[in-house]
Formats: sequence, C-alpha cells, structure tokens
Amino acid sequence: MNEIKKKIISTICCLSLCCCGVLADIDSSGKKIQDEELYLGIDIGGTSIKIGLFTSKGNRVEEERRVLTDPNASPEEVVKSITTEAANFKHYQKIKSIGVGMPGDIDSDTGIVRFSPNLLKWKNVHLKDLLETSMSRSVYIDNDANVATLGAFYLDADDKVANLVCITLGTGIGGGLVFNKKLYRGSSGSAGEVGHITIESQGPKCNCGNKGCVEAFIGERYFTKYAQDYLRNNPSKIINELTGESSSPITPKLLFDAAERGDEVAKKMWVYYGEKLGILLADIINFVNPDTIVLCGGFSKSSKYFMPSVHKEVKSRAFRSAVKTCKIVVSQHTSELGTIGAAMLAKEGIANNDKLDRTDSL
Ligand SMILES: [Zn+2]
Repeated sequence: MNEIKKKIISTICCLSLCCCGVLADIDSSGKKIQDEELYLGIDIGGTSIKIGLFTSKGNRVEEERRVLTDPNASPEEVVKSITTEAANFKHYQKIKSIGVGMPGDIDSDTGIVRFSPNLLKWKNVHLKDLLETSMSRSVYIDNDANVATLGAFYLDADDKVANLVCITLGTGIGGGLVFNKKLYRGSSGSAGEVGHITIESQGPKCNCGNKGCVEAFIGERYFTKYAQDYLRNNPSKIINELTGESSSPITPKLLFDAAERGDEVAKKMWVYYGEKLGILLADIINFVNPDTIVLCGGFSKSSKYFMPSVHKEVKSRAFRSAVKTCKIVVSQHTSELGTIGAAMLAKEGIANNDKLDRTDSL
C-alpha cells in the first residue's frame, strides 16, 4: 500500500468523517466507555477498507479509519495495513475480538477466504490465522451480506425484532437472515441469496446462468440497461440534459437526480424497480414470515420513488396476516452497516455463538 495515499485517506477521515460527535472517552450514545469491552469491525470493500471501533451495543467509540483497497495486494500486505491503521485507535488495548466482512466465497467456520472479487491474488487465504497472529485477538470472518444483516439487526431494527431479512440493493441483490435473533447461514453457508430467486420464468438471463432472477431485473447493470432501452423509445428532455452532449451513461444516481427534477420517465423507471422488488419481498414475506425487512445499499437512496410500488406489490401478493406483522424499513445507516456488523460478528463469535442479545448490556 502506498504510504502517502494511506496518510491522505486517514487525514480525510479525521477531517471529514468525524461528524458523529464522538469524543475520546464517550461512545456515540454519550456513555462513558471506561469499563466497556470493545469490538473492532473491518469492512473490506472494493475501494477502501473501513475500520471501526464499537461497544457491545454497536455504539461507535472513535471515528472510522480507512485504508485504500489495493486489488493486487498480497494477504500479508493487507493484514499489515489493517494492523498498522487499527493500532492508531486510542482505545486499541480494550479490543476484545475482531470481525471482518468482505464479498466473495468465505468459509466462516474456518476463516478461509476462498475467493474475493476485490482482491484478485487471493485464493484460499487463511485470513483468520493471519489477522490473529498479527493482532493477537480472536478474529471472525463472514461475507459482506451476512455482516450487513448483523449491522441492520443492531442499527435499524427495534429491540423486539427476532426474525429479520436484510436485502442489499446495489450492483447485485444480496441478502441475509436473522432467525430467532441468530444469524442463519444455511447448510453450506449460502443462505440469503435472494438476488437469484426467479420472479419471471422467461425473464432476462442472469449472470448466474438462470433466467428471470430478480437481480437480472434490478441489479445495477440490468436496471440501467433496461432504462437505456426504454429511453430509446421514450426520450426525456431532463435526462438528455443530465447526460449532456457527451451522452454519459445512465446511472442510478442520474435517474434519481432526474426524478428529483420531476422527470416522469425517470419516475416510471423507479416504479418498475419497485414492482420487481415488491414481487421479491412478497415471496420472502410468504416464505419466511419475518417481523422486519431492512433494505440497504446504494439504491436505497431512491426509496421514496420506488417504495410506493413495493408496498403495492407486497399488499396484493403476500398473505395479509404476514404483511401486517412485517415492517419494511429503509436503512438510514447503509455506509456503516459493514463495520458495525463486523464488530457485532466479533461479539457474537466471542460469545461462542450464543443468541444475539441486544439487551445484555442495556
Ligand atoms: Zn441469478
């Protein structure tokens, strides 16, 4: 990792991300942390590795730190960067255990990263061993969808929630499940792959090989292609202005901006998005009967434009009693779910897989 880049991004963190009101010895809820056990949450993303320090209740203790993700870095180089950056936390010595979330094929039992799209050289890396040796704490690793689900369980759901489904709306459509206050990973760790639930038997071909997966409709690439095709026959003055003379590509942000300016074509795109997502949610509600569904990820920013059609589909398709007991929430903490979820994974891990319990330290 380039030392100057690292320094710059750390400085940016200190200058611009310190907006949570965190003081040296007080957590983000305003309580003193003198006797608290702390948990380190590491979110290995495509552009940066975020590192956060939290109490057992998920309250942030110090401002987040970051290092840039180098896709060609070796496991040893990444571990060294994380260890060096984490050591800068004032309360580093109080860390009880460490959690890590990252996309890819992760064996959460052994802590082996079989493959990750963000780190191209990594094949069957024993990341748990490497970090435990480097940081002298127990380390727990899981895929980013499960970790975000834990984050949503602590940040977006109320205390009574027992059965929660978290759906990430972004490049792909990811998901995770909490059953009876415990993360459910399935028999081989692939539970929660909601993006590949078929919603139309003859729908567009999905990357996974299937046809008509919900991701093949509302995953970023597919959704923007649909919008581009639609715009050919239904031109929009506002979208043309936004793409400019260079005809920059249609992005979710551009469709959001166009809708904000009152563009009817963009609003139609979001209705389409909400209809497809609503079909998925109706299936999930009938099958899982959750008390809460949390929607997170980059697309959730446009929720005001797609949620009305989500609710309409859910109401018309799912069992009434199940719909009545299920709260659909749009996360207000998308950018934090990775680090908080990873820290709570560390807490869950050290508690030896006991049930998640948010009341134990209240
Ligand atoms: Zn698929």
